[in-house]
Amino acid sequence: MSLGKAMIHARKQKAIARAAAYAGESVAVHHNHMLQMPVLVLNASYEPINICGARRALVLVLKGIARTEEEHGLTLHAQRSRIAMPSVIRLLEYRRIPHQTRALSRKNILLRDRNTCQYCGVVLPPSELTLDHVMPRSRGGNSTWENLVACCHACNRRKGNRLLNEIDDMVLLREPRPFSLHTSRQIMRMLGRGDDRWRKYLFY
Ligand SMILES: [Zn+2]
Repeated sequence: MSLGKAMIHARKQKAIARAAAYAGESVAVHHNHMLQMPVLVLNASYEPINICGARRALVLVLKGIARTEEEHGLTLHAQRSRIAMPSVIRLLEYRRIPHQTRALSRKNILLRDRNTCQYCGVVLPPSELTLDHVMPRSRGGNSTWENLVACCHACNRRKGNRLLNEIDDMVLLREPRPFSLHTSRQIMRMLGRGDDRWRKYLFY
């Protein structure tokens, strides 16, 4: 990042922090859960790009960076004004979304694999899943997006230190890939399945 860009970035961060502090001051404490509700973020092109908390969404709207496309139907009663809670917001300026920005972590691998064992297909809570190195570490396998998958303990024990082609009936459900915008969109769809206000932007 160039120095100029870094300075603009720092100024933006400060402005966002100020706006967040303002939004925080003007609402009662019991509104906190309302401010944490998920809001779908669309690019200027109406392409869904993210999910953020309602507090951040309001800040973006108040700062004129985004506008509310769909309201939630709930109203935040601030000191002197009432604010309609957004359910979907849209950025006013088109933003280029960099590919592959997610960090490689246990949490993100499980998110990518939807808490599903990639060998037997069982869906389990995160605490009951482990990560499996497809090519075992003891045989030179690395910790990468392409070599780590969600795995149940039973499959993990069964596979042990073997390679998949050394085991008769064990295959990957799908080829492990880095977390992409495509993956993010699938997750947005999963989260927005029940919400009609999100549906029309996610299923097109
Ligand atoms: Zn399994």
